[in-house]
Amino acid sequence: MSLPLSHPALSATDPELAALVAAEERLQSDTLRLIPSENYVSQAVLEASGTVLQNKYSEGYSGRRYYEGQQNIDQVETLAVERAKTLFGVEHANVQPYSGSPANLAVYLAFAEPGDTVMGMALPMGGHLTHGWGVSATGKWFRGVQYGVRHDTGLIDFDEVRELALKERPKIIFCGGTALPRTIDFAAFAEIAREAGSVLVADVAHIAGLIAGGAHPSPVPHADVISTTTHKTLRGPRGAMLMSREQHAKAIDKAVFPGLQGGPHNQTTAAIAVALHEAAQPSFRDYAQAVVANAGALAEQLLARGFDLVSGGTDNHLILMDLTPKDVPGKVAAKALDRAGIVVNYNTVPYDPRKPFDPSGIRIGTPSLTSRGLGTQHMAAVADWIDRGVTAARTGDEDALTAIRAEVAELMAAFPAPGLPTD
Ligand SMILES: *Cc1c(COP(=O)(O)O)cnc(C)c1O
Repeated sequence: MSLPLSHPALSATDPELAALVAAEERLQSDTLRLIPSENYVSQAVLEASGTVLQNKYSEGYSGRRYYEGQQNIDQVETLAVERAKTLFGVEHANVQPYSGSPANLAVYLAFAEPGDTVMGMALPMGGHLTHGWGVSATGKWFRGVQYGVRHDTGLIDFDEVRELALKERPKIIFCGGTALPRTIDFAAFAEIAREAGSVLVADVAHIAGLIAGGAHPSPVPHADVISTTTHKTLRGPRGAMLMSREQHAKAIDKAVFPGLQGGPHNQTTAAIAVALHEAAQPSFRDYAQAVVANAGALAEQLLARGFDLVSGGTDNHLILMDLTPKDVPGKVAAKALDRAGIVVNYNTVPYDPRKPFDPSGIRIGTPSLTSRGLGTQHMAAVADWIDRGVTAARTGDEDALTAIRAEVAELMAAFPAPGLPTD
């Protein structure tokens, strides 16, 4: 079987690499991708990120560069900044952070000194490494104190957050995370941060697209700083943004450059501008609502099949399930589902008795399948495949996994993915 020649120059120069790209295109096309931090960018975003803008060095900011020849680049960055400000309703936006982790590191540089106390959600509870977790530079160079969710409800315990904040008086409080299936109460965090004298950072990496599309409440005006990646529900290139009121603009800009980074990745800035333009269209509001509707429908179908969902369900794009009642470790299930053409990640669940590299749960989400046009009417089939796949993982039934893989490929063929070649 010959793969389609979608990148002629690359194929001519480096057939070995071109074959890997073509194989990845086929994988992304044929499989049901349920990793909640992933998506499919549009052809327009792909094209913008593959332009000659990548040839240019632009240290500094629009109108204040350390290199000449910025006639076009300045306008590209200004477009991205202005679009971010309009879309999220903020006074200041910095679109240069290379990714979400460096964006968060810039926040530390702007608002704390090494050794200061910072507070975030514990990684195994659903927080992010960069919120002060021990193995991260943010937990090694700062003193991280961590909150979690309640054992009985799976929800954030604001009494615990307040008590910890008032006792520790952290310089920075992070809210947001990587495995939070419920709406984040930014106002509640803001009240606690005010009482404790802390800078509140809303890390909305996962839900930025939902916020832009009106499907999750906005952290504006509650958070002092908003940190986000651009490549998750926002459906842009791999990158990040920091947003704030004018009051913090200087501190943030100085921290990103020259504090932490050199030249911005202009091709990424351009693709962020395109993604923000797309996210400002009415159709993106429909997309964001559909992501949430699909996750809600999928959660219901999974509950009906006896799955144990952390917090009992979802308000957003993400579902975290504890597979203990199904008698299958998360990693075994994730690997079996991968063989069945269903791509998920194994994940700790709150109070997980198992180890992070071999935890009890899996984490799934609906941003990618919604980008392909699947709707709530398809969620029963998706839940069925997951159910059969988890059962096959327990019984070691490889034939069942192969059968699911064929069924998945057949449905996905009817819903071509944005940005991928069709044949
Ligand atoms: C994804 C994510 C990040 C990090 O983004 P990278 O681009 O992977 O560095 C930071 N915070 C949260 C909450 C995330 O979900």
